[in-house]
Amino acid sequence: MARRTPNSELQTPQLKRLVPRLLDWFSANARDLPWRRTCDPYAIWVSEIMLQQTQVKTVMPYWERWMRELPTIEAAAKASPAKIHKLWEGLGYYTRVRNLQKAAQVIVETHGGKFPESFDEVLALPGIGRYTAGAICSIAFNQPTPILDGNVIRVLTRIFGIAENPKEKKNNAQLWQLAEGLVAKASKGRDSALRCPDAAARRPYHCSYLNQSLMELGALVCTPRNPQCGICPVKKLCVAFRESRVEELPNLGKRKTATVRRFAAFVVEQDGIFLVRQRPAGIVNAHLWEFPNVEITGVKSSPKLAAKEIFGITPVRIEPLCTIKHSITRYRITLETFRVQLGGRSSTSSHSKHSKSGTHESRPSEKFGVWLTPAKLDSLALTSAHRKILKRLDTKAT
Ligand code: SF4
Repeated sequence: MARRTPNSELQTPQLKRLVPRLLDWFSANARDLPWRRTCDPYAIWVSEIMLQQTQVKTVMPYWERWMRELPTIEAAAKASPAKIHKLWEGLGYYTRVRNLQKAAQVIVETHGGKFPESFDEVLALPGIGRYTAGAICSIAFNQPTPILDGNVIRVLTRIFGIAENPKEKKNNAQLWQLAEGLVAKASKGRDSALRCPDAAARRPYHCSYLNQSLMELGALVCTPRNPQCGICPVKKLCVAFRESRVEELPNLGKRKTATVRRFAAFVVEQDGIFLVRQRPAGIVNAHLWEFPNVEITGVKSSPKLAAKEIFGITPVRIEPLCTIKHSITRYRITLETFRVQLGGRSSTSSHSKHSKSGTHESRPSEKFGVWLTPAKLDSLALTSAHRKILKRLDTKAT
């Protein structure tokens, strides 16, 4: 049953009581994450982009490696595409890293390399939406800019007992208002213990703490399944808890059903080197490297036909290597991998040579990709599924 969303008059006292509880809880319970030890906007920005669609424990080693290899905005702006893709390899959603670099280049060209502090200027950067701009401006600069992502939506719909679908425009706008009300209240705080973690800039940090408390509560306590209401710092103010509606909220409507897709990948090896290709711009996983592959559909329903479609000839031999299952957004993908022999000999071309770059000369099939040594391939960014194939081949990168 749809219930009335609280109006702003009802929210005001509730917001007022929520803020100190959230701040106190966060001060005592926040996880010690590396990007929380600084208020450097570049470091916080990189963490926020990595954390989109990705869990904290996965992000940590990536963030640390990125900050070690590209410690400044200038370094990120100048890095080669191969380097940024390699640093991002395995995180997925690679448009994020390309936009991050574009934004770094804009900051160097337009802002003299200094991360802008104005919310509108941050929002104008490539790859930065309202949530990320709000997160950076509040966490790095302690501005009262609200944030609203999946975690915060869950926390707010439960606390305020909002039964309407938060993805609908009107309800989403209302949630932004609530998030704004909370951080605005926090900005008036006087608690001297809440300070920026950088020793050199020990300024008050209430807006940062408030927004991070919402993220943290959603990640640790008010989780999608089995929320820990018993230890929740705001349970006395939570409508969903009081009315036993926690499991109902948020009301995200019907989920899109998953789509099953089947692909075949082909490992063509000659003299210990492999035929691979780089994915073109403008498609998912653009610029990453992979073994030749194709989707198996009705017309090319067998791996042999699929191989013929890619290479233009029917393979002499084709044998199964491994099957990898993975998901990208709503797609459940099965990647069947085969070793393939295209010509009459598995090892050919006695005059063929490995070049210093790890590429290979004088091979057939160049039009389908390039021939690379395992060591060269290992140094490039591969999609996660194709990295697994490379590991499965048990080739030593030498
Ligand atoms: Fe979430 Fe339960 Fe806390 Fe309410 S009481 S905010 S439902 S964890």
